[in-house]
Amino acid sequence: MSAAPAGVIDSHCHLQSLDPDDRERALDEARARGVAGFLVPAIRLADADGLLALAHRHPDVWCALGVHPHEASSWRPGDRERLRALLADPKSVAVGECGLDFHYDHSPRATQLAVLREQWALAIELDLPAVVHNRDSNDAMLALLRETEFADLTADFHSFAGGLAMARELIGRGFYLGFTGMITFPRAGNVREVIPHLPPDRELVETDTPYLAPIPYRGRPNRPAYVVEVCRRLAEERGESYDEAARRTSENFLRLFRRAAAGAREAATPGSGPR
Ligand SMILES: [Zn+2]
Repeated sequence: MSAAPAGVIDSHCHLQSLDPDDRERALDEARARGVAGFLVPAIRLADADGLLALAHRHPDVWCALGVHPHEASSWRPGDRERLRALLADPKSVAVGECGLDFHYDHSPRATQLAVLREQWALAIELDLPAVVHNRDSNDAMLALLRETEFADLTADFHSFAGGLAMARELIGRGFYLGFTGMITFPRAGNVREVIPHLPPDRELVETDTPYLAPIPYRGRPNRPAYVVEVCRRLAEERGESYDEAARRTSENFLRLFRRAAAGAREAATPGSGPR
């Protein structure tokens, strides 16, 4: 008997951006294409209850809890304690989405930095990985990473588009890089060119739903099912089969997000595995 098709995992999809009915449909259509797992990152702390409820309804859905840099201004005294309590839930597998965005500057930069410090400190305290957003902020990001306080951070730098020098710096620190539908865009040669230089055990695939839909869906709202196109392109760039790329990136996901791996083992009863 040949091996079952390897399920690919969408390591970053904002399902909360879809209508409530459409969330279930989006999960089902993705599963029908062989997508075996979904990580849904919060944008604000107010997302947490809804994301945890969604994750508890589905053995193949997990969430990251935290505050996106766009929403950093919403951080209040006591939010570190509130987030710590929320992260006690085993369906929360990471701190995030956290980071810096100096492209849009929706929150003041000093606030973004302060809120990122709070969340990374919590990630280290709880021994959880962080899901990190980084846009037009490489220098500030690297300065923070070089602080000894954050030496033990583990992280997924999602929607990576930072160039080869940044990729090497992040890989050297033990981090993982998440690739989106951008790698299918004709003009994104600068993103694709880093792929052959990366260790194969540090790559993740993601949709970043609802943004960055891959070719041939470009310009439409993204869906978790389209992670198949991202994985297919990654496999082409690597000269490996789709199944190899799917299996490899899913193993990477479960190595980084250890709570998801623990949950997946518990859920692995006959008939409930990836289709
Ligand atoms: Zn995101």
